[in-house]
Amino acid sequence: MKKNKKLLKNLPNKEGYYGSFGGQFIPPELKKPLEEIEKEYLKAKKDINFQNEYNDLLKNYVGRPSPLYFAKNLTKKLGGAKIYLKREDLNHTGAHKINHCIGEALLAKRMGKKKLLAETGAGQHGVALATAAAIVGLPCEIHMGSIDIVKEYPNVIRMKLLGAKIVEVNTGGKCLKDAVDSAFSQFMNEYQTTFFTIGSVVGPHPYPMIVKDFQSIVGKEAKKQIIKKEGRLPDYIIGCVGGGSNAIGLFNEFLDDEVELIGVEPAGKGTAVGQHAATITYGSEGIIHGMKTIVLQNKEGKPNPVHSIASGLDYPGVGPIHAYLKNIGRVKYTSVSDKETLDAFVELSKIEGIIPALESSHAIAEVIKLAPTLDKNKIIIVNLSGRGDKDIDYVVKLLKIN
Ligand SMILES: *Cc1c(COP(=O)(O)O)cnc(C)c1O
Repeated sequence: MKKNKKLLKNLPNKEGYYGSFGGQFIPPELKKPLEEIEKEYLKAKKDINFQNEYNDLLKNYVGRPSPLYFAKNLTKKLGGAKIYLKREDLNHTGAHKINHCIGEALLAKRMGKKKLLAETGAGQHGVALATAAAIVGLPCEIHMGSIDIVKEYPNVIRMKLLGAKIVEVNTGGKCLKDAVDSAFSQFMNEYQTTFFTIGSVVGPHPYPMIVKDFQSIVGKEAKKQIIKKEGRLPDYIIGCVGGGSNAIGLFNEFLDDEVELIGVEPAGKGTAVGQHAATITYGSEGIIHGMKTIVLQNKEGKPNPVHSIASGLDYPGVGPIHAYLKNIGRVKYTSVSDKETLDAFVELSKIEGIIPALESSHAIAEVIKLAPTLDKNKIIIVNLSGRGDKDIDYVVKLLKIN
């Protein structure tokens, strides 16, 4: 593999592009508010007080650094490469999303904003943001489709307990897309006083950059940890890709190293439209949610319906940084099916005593395929992006255990 020199160093460019991906496809009124967010973020990045406050919360509130755990039972059973799990599931709130939600909340506070605003689908972003809002001390408003409210009721209760206001969205299909539209139009009305947060490395510039930077703590820790444990860098790094925040968080620190990076997308139930959400694998260049990226879309450029067993991966777009990394060949993107994912969920639970999120189980499924093909002296790090407690009721139904 060719040694890359500071692959993302001068990216994004001034217009927010990574190669031909990214940018800002937004109403003209929003240009200025987003410019202000970018300006203030770049200042905060260099401000030692801001960084100290962020790092203190990561350490004492989130519980970082998360362990890099050698999965010796899984390694032994698969009989190939050594497998390490980056335990983001052990973070407060049980997933990696808290890393960037706290960052965004602190940035909003620094800018003097009066409220955090977001949409949520399954409620994972909503819960992480409501938590960050509580600890940072800002009100929080979450828009959610009425169908999702029924489906994801425990997360609705969590958000309410955390003090968030839930806005029920009854338009259109009453799901994530409608919640996005609703939250966005609310933002158009009050962008002077409100901070719109985004739950992954998606959306218009500067969001992909900001969320990537906040998530990059994961890779920084993993690099130190693996060097301490093994005296060298890993050979492979694997992460599941929905919008792409947990994957880029782990990849980022290794982009310039001789490490093979693999992003795993949800192949769902099949290759037909509506059966999967493997955007990079099957999509084409298009525009979605304010960015140019790879999109699963029809001939008119409308996003296709998507499916995944993991609601956090159920997205017809992907972060522009991933579209770029795919295009230049730096990251390999593969996909695994619902069935392989469910098998991996069961396997990791049984053999390591760790119940993984269905999202993270995609990365585990890829490891289960890859590790046995590799030499015993090879090393793999997998991002275990979240814990699976949230998925248990659903899995029980699928497996028909009781
Ligand atoms: C939301 C979520 C994901 C998918 O989001 P990315 O931005 O692709 O990381 C993955 N794992 C867990 C546990 C999640 O909650």
